[in-house]
Amino acid sequence: MHQQVLPTLKEYFGYDSFRPLQETIIKAVFDKQDNLVIMPTGGGKSICFQLPALLLPGVTLVISPLIALMKDQVDGLRANGIDAAFINSSQEGAEQQHITEKLHEGAIKLLYVAPESLSIVDTILAPGQISLIAIDEAHCISAWGHDFRPAYTQLGFLKKRYPDTPIIALTATADKATREDICQQLNIPHATRHIASFDRKNLSLEVRPGTNRIQQILNFIETVPNESGIIYCLSRKATETLAEKITHAGYEAKAYHAGLSHEQRIQTQENFINDTLKIVCATVAFGMGIDKSNVRWVIHYNLPKNIEGYYQEIGRAGRDGIPSSTLLFHSYADVMQLQKFAEDSGNAEVQLAKLERMKQFAEALSCRRKVLLSYFGELIQQDCGNCDICKRPPAFIDGTIIAQKVLSAIARLKEQESMHIVVDVLRGSQNALIYDKGYQNIKTYGIAKDIPWKDLQQYLIQLINQGYIEIAFHEKNRLKLTPLARNILFQGEKVQLANLVKAEEAKVESQKTAKKAAPNSLFEHLRKVRLTLAQEAGIPAYQIFSDATLKELEAERPASDEEFLRISGVGRKKMENYGQDFLDAIREFKEAKYKKKTNTKGATYKLTFELYQSGLSPEAIAQKRNLSSTTVFSHLVKLYQNGETIDLNRYITKEELTKLEHAKKEVVLENPTAIKPYFDYFEEQISYEKIRIGLAILEKRSIIAEA
Ligand code: ADP
Ligand code: ZN
Repeated sequence: MHQQVLPTLKEYFGYDSFRPLQETIIKAVFDKQDNLVIMPTGGGKSICFQLPALLLPGVTLVISPLIALMKDQVDGLRANGIDAAFINSSQEGAEQQHITEKLHEGAIKLLYVAPESLSIVDTILAPGQISLIAIDEAHCISAWGHDFRPAYTQLGFLKKRYPDTPIIALTATADKATREDICQQLNIPHATRHIASFDRKNLSLEVRPGTNRIQQILNFIETVPNESGIIYCLSRKATETLAEKITHAGYEAKAYHAGLSHEQRIQTQENFINDTLKIVCATVAFGMGIDKSNVRWVIHYNLPKNIEGYYQEIGRAGRDGIPSSTLLFHSYADVMQLQKFAEDSGNAEVQLAKLERMKQFAEALSCRRKVLLSYFGELIQQDCGNCDICKRPPAFIDGTIIAQKVLSAIARLKEQESMHIVVDVLRGSQNALIYDKGYQNIKTYGIAKDIPWKDLQQYLIQLINQGYIEIAFHEKNRLKLTPLARNILFQGEKVQLANLVKAEEAKVESQKTAKKAAPNSLFEHLRKVRLTLAQEAGIPAYQIFSDATLKELEAERPASDEEFLRISGVGRKKMENYGQDFLDAIREFKEAKYKKKTNTKGATYKLTFELYQSGLSPEAIAQKRNLSSTTVFSHLVKLYQNGETIDLNRYITKEELTKLEHAKKEVVLENPTAIKPYFDYFEEQISYEKIRIGLAILEKRSIIAEA
């Protein structure tokens, strides 16, 4: 492999190693192969063509469907010190002229182009100048994919026009039909297929019943008040109501949907990207064209209509690899509505089947990630440990009696009623509908009144999922018994049901223990520095450094350029541009923390300090001020503890310090500030001054280590 690859990765992107598959793909690019890359959102597709672009001669052409995304990527590359530009229809002639000139000077390594503007490329670049062609969001070429774009269909000509230039097509859409269609249409039938795992381990998965959703959402936000998140809703109305309620509760949230003006949408999107707006309540349209890497949570207020959509939406969280939360609310009302949409759609059969898989995921009683990944044809051996089922496995109870009651109620209702009425009958509800139909007289009326309404509904859903009951969607959703039901009613077959009571208790527990974000942490401090720098530079905050990099800065606390450069995500350019600001911020943070713990004032200290700064030794200061040298040393120690720059290490040897460190573990102190016990411990071989100095140095070290 090209030996410059790793140093280039560090120099321009700040990373020390590759993510899975990146290296293989880059090697294939250097071997001039055509490549199809399937990687989930956040998997790290961009580097697969951006890195070769830096090392190949000439220009890498990047076809990208969205102007906003293009601009974002080019800004990101420039922030890393990489020469990149884009061409699209929104530009003026003069701007394109300028880009053309730079291309001829060889001052551009990556040129982003919208498919509609491809014809311009021919006029400004000779075929020999193009070393690599990258096609981002390649699924847009296929009508099988979910964002088909007509302009993409002309991309097939690229291979004919530039037969010797390797093509790399990239997408996060996994299904096989789309994949093959992409290669076919791009005329790269022999492209090497690189299919990455779709497992996004840093995303936690959770599904909850959709009761009291707003309160649940507010409780959740309370645990992550400074983090960015998206809440997806099915209707425009819901996004607005929800944004209002969240705002009312004291957080900032905005709605985003196709009914708003273009300006309003752009504004909301930009504020979100720039970290000045934390929460967006959106219809699914939101998030398509944005690359924001620090979305920390995604909530689905409603059940999505299929797993592809759901996975893509939760995929917008945690692109930087930091643990992020996803939460899906599951309600039966949603299922009914989606069912109707699906039936009214063009290809009802496919849509219904997809919805069914989505429902199975939401109602799963075993590891959710297994269910999810199996949908994408990926099988994992072990339970994931990062979904609600793994964290709080449902306990099962013998549900035979409950099942018998439910099934016989359905039988007595002659299989004519929907879930709602069946539950009402079982619970002995006294409403008009029940009385109108005379259901208070049937034998099973009220036989399950000890079970709360919602729980009973959940048990019914479990029985549906286990195949004992079926919903006749075409017949007003009436519940029917399946042949399996007979086994329970007449043959004594046992049924296991997940214990709902326990699940409820566990949930309350988990909410209680959810930890709140620390508002005064170094991370928050660095985040503010980042926001200021981003606003000055006019780029999104995450393009300065990702949250992952800030977290590492918080943990490592670099104190020099060299240490700073070792942090993942810090490349040379960013080091030059932002290093000093962050190093200063870290140092100030440490000192402020330290100063809080000590405090001195007064003229006598000031005088000692001035003399010290003028270069006098402690003995000389003592003489000049007519003080004992013990007093001068105690001044210096105090000043040092107060955060002034005093080099106490000059007055004690390393060995003495080590001895003292050891002594601290052994000497028992009644008075925590006492010095004499140490003096005795060392059998009067180390002076009082030195002990005082040594203890001050050790104390500062431990405070700074803790801070
Ligand atoms: P995709 O286009 O597949 O959604 P990106 O290319 O935007 O993903 O990468 C997602 C995030 O992962 C970005 O913040 C990117 O900088 C980061 N990333 C990519 N490759 C690496 C790597 N080798 N090491 C660390 N972080 C990486
Ligand atoms: Zn799991």
